[in-house]
Amino acid sequence: MAQQEEVFKKLISHCKEYGFVFPSSEIYDGLGAVYDYGQNGVELKNNIKKYWWDSMTLLNENVVGIDSAIFMHPTIWKASGHVDAFNDPLIDNKDSKKRYRADVLIEEQIAKYEDKINKEVEKAAKRFGETFDEQKFRETNPRVLENEAKKEALHTRFAKALNDSNLEELRQIIIDEEIVDPVSGTKNWTEVRQFNLMFSTEMGSTADGATKIYLRPETAQGIFVNFLNVQKSGRMKIPFGIAQIGKAFRNEIVARQFIFRMREFEQMEMQFFVRPGEELAWFDRWKQTRMRWHKALGLGDKKYRFHDHDKLAHYANAATDIEFEMPFGFKEVEGIHSRTDFDLSSHEKFSGKRIQFFDPELNQSYVPYVIETSIGVDRMFLSVLAGSYFEEKLENGETRVVLRIPAVLAPVKLAVLPLIKKDGLPEKAREIMDNLKFDYHCQYDEKDSIGKRYRRQDAIGTPYCITVDHDSLTDNQVTIRYRDTMEQERVPVDQLKQIIAEKLSMKHLLKKI
Ligand code: ATP
Repeated sequence: MAQQEEVFKKLISHCKEYGFVFPSSEIYDGLGAVYDYGQNGVELKNNIKKYWWDSMTLLNENVVGIDSAIFMHPTIWKASGHVDAFNDPLIDNKDSKKRYRADVLIEEQIAKYEDKINKEVEKAAKRFGETFDEQKFRETNPRVLENEAKKEALHTRFAKALNDSNLEELRQIIIDEEIVDPVSGTKNWTEVRQFNLMFSTEMGSTADGATKIYLRPETAQGIFVNFLNVQKSGRMKIPFGIAQIGKAFRNEIVARQFIFRMREFEQMEMQFFVRPGEELAWFDRWKQTRMRWHKALGLGDKKYRFHDHDKLAHYANAATDIEFEMPFGFKEVEGIHSRTDFDLSSHEKFSGKRIQFFDPELNQSYVPYVIETSIGVDRMFLSVLAGSYFEEKLENGETRVVLRIPAVLAPVKLAVLPLIKKDGLPEKAREIMDNLKFDYHCQYDEKDSIGKRYRRQDAIGTPYCITVDHDSLTDNQVTIRYRDTMEQERVPVDQLKQIIAEKLSMKHLLKKI
């Protein structure tokens, strides 16, 4: 774990050094849990968004997109339940004065039991070698069984406390489990209190009687309140979906772990409207589709898992997370929820408008049920970087830092490099770049040795470097150098476009979903 934390620190400084992510307002010492994306970050982020958008709107003819406003009528947040229930349980340590989410402290404690079990299994696997029977070991080893029992008991108690919204019990669990503050090392905890995560501001001048409005904590509500508009104007028939990408804001209690938990972040959400009673089948279908979307990137199938929710949100009848193995453990990247007809019914009630669909096959009207897939762009961004960051020892003893970002998502696709900056090589390189720049984000670089230039491109994840040498002037061929294998291949300039197009087509990725 310590080693992983080290990797995470390096990744954060790499992000800054190479123009991926900067702390916001840095020259004023930053603003808590707010970040800016730099020149490479924005490209990667846009590519991730395109991958998601295309997978939703191109692959599904019954999914269309919208872009709704961040400001919305304040009653929407009453109807959605956010004014009353969008809370996190917070607890302070009286010595360090640090604030924590009580549920997260307990979840980390559960993870500790899991770690202990896994360590026992790993140790035994090493000791017994090939004859090791993991299942039997897990079922019989006293230390594993003891930790498993503790974990299960804690899990059950925690789930009940959450479902009952029993804040005192949450505190009692923290006391009973002897959870200490990682900063002060003490168990001197305050009571647990609820904290509403929505940011509010005012619209209109105060003299006119300004209205309190909220910065949206999720993009989903913009979809629900446009359900009728899209359904009618697009002549959509159930089942159909509405996709949206946009900013969301949450006044998170604890904002650590870089861009994993931000106060301003971006979501990619799709609400899929179905017949009542068919929602769980659709829930399962979207679960599988979304997992395929993640795995298609090739970051490693073992890095993903589903995590079903212990506590269902007030609107859900099934919910699961897709978790990715970040340097700080398996963490939620995407949530998939069966939201029932809660949102549309609630908006019917609060707005007084009928929000229903007339199903010609059933010859009846109903409030559709909803399956939601909701993924954070920033968490996705972090998972791509965490899964791509490698420090490699080379044969010559040097180390190279390489981002093995899936080529389609890479911020810069091609670097065009004249071997030296004279003898007509720069002109030839420029000519090649001028031909490719309409289709791909290219970078021209003539400074420093070719080796150093390759390293710079490795560090930002450029999948292909094209080197122009003296022979290129006569044979009209160049060398392509591949980021991952570092292999080089000589190819004719006039075939370059075709070769690259094949490798960089989003189509291959989309076909795997
Ligand atoms: P968590 O339990 O980690 O707070 P959540 O369950 O509240 O997350 P959802 O409300 O399901 O998250 O939001 C959907 C997605 O939005 C999450 O899977 C995550 O990718 C993203 N997201 C939520 N909160 C944040 C945040 N503060 N910063 C960055 N991304 C976020």
